[in-house]
Amino acid sequence: MSNKELVGRRGLMLALSSPSGAGKTTLSRKLLESDPQITMSVSATTRKPRPGEVEGRDYYFVSTEDFGLMRNRGEFLESAKVFDNYYGTPRAPVENALSLGHDVLFDIDWQGVQQLDEVAHEDLVKVFVLPPSVQDLERRLNVRAQDSAEVVAARMAKASDEISHYQEYDYIIINDDVERAFGELHSILQAERLRRRRLTGLSDFVKRLRDTL
Ligand code: 5GP
Repeated sequence: MSNKELVGRRGLMLALSSPSGAGKTTLSRKLLESDPQITMSVSATTRKPRPGEVEGRDYYFVSTEDFGLMRNRGEFLESAKVFDNYYGTPRAPVENALSLGHDVLFDIDWQGVQQLDEVAHEDLVKVFVLPPSVQDLERRLNVRAQDSAEVVAARMAKASDEISHYQEYDYIIINDDVERAFGELHSILQAERLRRRRLTGLSDFVKRLRDTL
């Protein structure tokens, strides 16, 4: 008889960072569509919504004043200024998900990942997505038509800064083929779910196994 149902696990936090234009958004979307055990952390931001973005799905769009109040009340797990706007990760939904054994995906920059590492090191898995070349990055940024030429130029400048932090991550994915990159990301997630420290009820399970030997 199997006692496998005795073994549960705490959820993990999967932080996915990359310079913008490296394909991180596509990889996140594919992961969320294919795996029901992981949900997206929806950040609050002071940035204005882009066409097509939905309140509560893409972001919680808040005023600078409200963002400051939320931060002062300790409602963010981490927060940072990226480009000219503030971004923050609401704390409560993440803590709930983890305690229920669900995983949470974060699309946040290196500043946010550093902060999560300080408060939740054991739960955190840090993945960095690199573009195969600068030409590829430029091409993808230019096809994101919602952004002005000025914004695209600013993001190219920021890309170099973002990439300089790759050494702070556990895993590196070079996204030259989205299907392969997605396979790699899913493998990382599957393996990290099996880490012994995330498992609960393991000692009871092993005890019963041994008792029947
Ligand atoms: P965008 O404005 O293009 O949606 O996002 C700009 C950058 O902000 C991206 O690099 C994204 O990863 C980052 N970002 C989005 N939400 C958060 C957050 O809650 N915290 C931090 N630190 N960065 C975020």
